[in-house]
Amino acid sequence: MEEYNAWFECIKGCEGRYALTDIIYRCPRCGDLLQVAHDMDKLRQKSPAEWKRLFDDRYMRNTYPYGSAVWGKKEWVCPQIDNANVVSMYEGGTNLFWADRLGQQIGVTDLWVKQCGNSHTGSFKDLGMTVLVSVVKQMIADGQQIRAVACASTGDTSAALAAYCAAAGIQAVVFLPRNKVSIDQLIQPIANGALVFSIDTDFDGCMQLVQEVTSKHNIYLANSLNSLRIEGQKTVSIELVQQFDWEVPDFVIIPGGNLGNVTALGKGFLMMYDLGLIDKLPRIVCAQSERANPLYRSYLTGFKEYKPIVAQPTLASAIQIGNPVSIHRAIAILKRFDGIVEQANEDELANASAQADLTGMYTCPHTGVALAVLFKLVERGIIRPQHRVVVISTAHGLKFTNFKVAYHEQKLPEVTSRFANPPLQLPADYNQVERAILEHLEREDKSKVDW
Ligand SMILES: *Cc1c(COP(=O)(O)O)cnc(C)c1O
Ligand SMILES: [Zn+2]
Repeated sequence: MEEYNAWFECIKGCEGRYALTDIIYRCPRCGDLLQVAHDMDKLRQKSPAEWKRLFDDRYMRNTYPYGSAVWGKKEWVCPQIDNANVVSMYEGGTNLFWADRLGQQIGVTDLWVKQCGNSHTGSFKDLGMTVLVSVVKQMIADGQQIRAVACASTGDTSAALAAYCAAAGIQAVVFLPRNKVSIDQLIQPIANGALVFSIDTDFDGCMQLVQEVTSKHNIYLANSLNSLRIEGQKTVSIELVQQFDWEVPDFVIIPGGNLGNVTALGKGFLMMYDLGLIDKLPRIVCAQSERANPLYRSYLTGFKEYKPIVAQPTLASAIQIGNPVSIHRAIAILKRFDGIVEQANEDELANASAQADLTGMYTCPHTGVALAVLFKLVERGIIRPQHRVVVISTAHGLKFTNFKVAYHEQKLPEVTSRFANPPLQLPADYNQVERAILEHLEREDKSKVDW
């Protein structure tokens, strides 16, 4: 596999190539972000059919590390790492849920939800973190001095970093904004032995701290301005097309905060397109919380203007980011994909999440944002009944128990819980229980008429 080659280069196109095992996050000439580029001529030596067959042969099989849906595409992701240094927990291979009942309710029956939260640490962040931590393990094996790996996080990056570092025997350091991540997310890096800072600031404040500490010490920076994570995350588009037997959907809707994920989604599609595996591109929709919507505001100006904002508290806490690091990469992707940016408020995201749960999912609030945006685009006639639509579900609902409990107790501020389903408290009395069941079934029969 040594013949395949990838390197860092400036996203603005400045001269210079840097090894993926160099400690470098920004272009030394202009200071902008780097991206991973691949030797495309080499990759073109295999035909599209050969790549599809290779990826399909490896998919969710047992030859380490290729059963991971990230490492099954190793030549396209990070070809130079020794397999012995790959730190994998069988990433990807997540269910592409056919949202049949939810789709019928909104009149779009070719509706699919990509369950990226069904993974080792419960969010899509595993897809990128396996690549980053594997590269760090390779760097250490090559003799580089790296004492720890650090990140700022809205809760899911830190969980992923802590787990992968623990598996690799590398110290993780995580910076979390106090009271702005769920209790479930907070306990994950604690359990995995990371050094956990709970800092009295927001995500953007944590980001500044981690950048300063990693620039001064032999501590490697794991945030998504580090493009290694984008390489792993881009496999989500390859995988979902693979799950449709290499057909491209019409729309993909994805919630966005720091905007690494929407960048990665687009990058995966473009790579398949360039290498001839697909012959069209979907429209990409980025869904933001109304409380943390700098990309949406820029979209309203036709992307002519962009101003960072101070993000306000939102139930979609993992996307409470006012100054997204990948803003320019994301705008470039959205322009290329005839992109749309839409927002959802607290009431809309919480109810969308609950409505989806009633059809068998267990959605996180960020997936709620994406679903609420889906509903809006259907109402507006942009997404139509014949379209095939994929919603990217970014985390598992089990990481947001307090959100679910408060919703069903009807205690979420600014939310009218239209789908609340509180437990019935009854004494151990057969007649009362029987009456409650029959009343419930009757009510359900009546409401079915509406759907
Ligand atoms: C990180 C995260 C996002 C946003 O991804 P970005 O790359 O920051 O835009 C959305 N949902 C969840 C659950 C996340 O953890
Ligand atoms: Zn540059």
